[in-house]
Amino acid sequence: MSEQKKNSTNGWTVQENGWTVPEVEETPSNGKVNVATVWLDGCSGCHMSFLDIDEKIIGLADLIQIVYSPLVDIKKFPGGVDVTLIEGAVSSDEDEEKVHEVRRNTKLLISFGDCAVTANVPAMRNQFKVDEVLNRAYIENATNNQEIPRFGLPRLLRKARPVHEIVNVDLFLPGCPPPSDAIYFVVGELLQGRIPDPKGKTRFGA
Ligand code: SF4
Repeated sequence: MSEQKKNSTNGWTVQENGWTVPEVEETPSNGKVNVATVWLDGCSGCHMSFLDIDEKIIGLADLIQIVYSPLVDIKKFPGGVDVTLIEGAVSSDEDEEKVHEVRRNTKLLISFGDCAVTANVPAMRNQFKVDEVLNRAYIENATNNQEIPRFGLPRLLRKARPVHEIVNVDLFLPGCPPPSDAIYFVVGELLQGRIPDPKGKTRFGA
């Protein structure tokens, strides 16, 4: 669960673990559950499955508010998020920083889809060195401008890793992607105050 704030000065917060992190603005709940979704190294298929909830999403809209997501135009991850679903593996220094930020500001964190749960497709590059991967992508497979970009891009980590290897995860929702019924079940159970067990609703590779 999220780390507790210890004290706060000049826009920075010192946490109990000694880390100094930027203060974040908490989103008012407006009587709803604050939900965020995050897209790391994934294909966006898990988010598409979320949208496949179709008309049932209208019912959810009465109960939850999306406070951060690639589906909405909010740039900064807010504080006080009740539930966050993370799609994708942690593949770059930017991803790593993001998951720590998300964890600090989320009460219940869900590893959303196989890439988040096991690193899945992004981990296919783990058997190669980072330079070999970049060389393959930007030199060998490029027909124009054969050059590895060195500036303005996040630095790739040595390996793509599942989210729980970086921060604590509260719930795993496997599937590639998890079926929309499974996503609806999990969100619905949480709204009822129950911790869902998605076994039987989805599985690795579903
Ligand atoms: Fe795409 Fe499957 Fe990874 Fe989801 S789990 S991001 S659908 S490859």
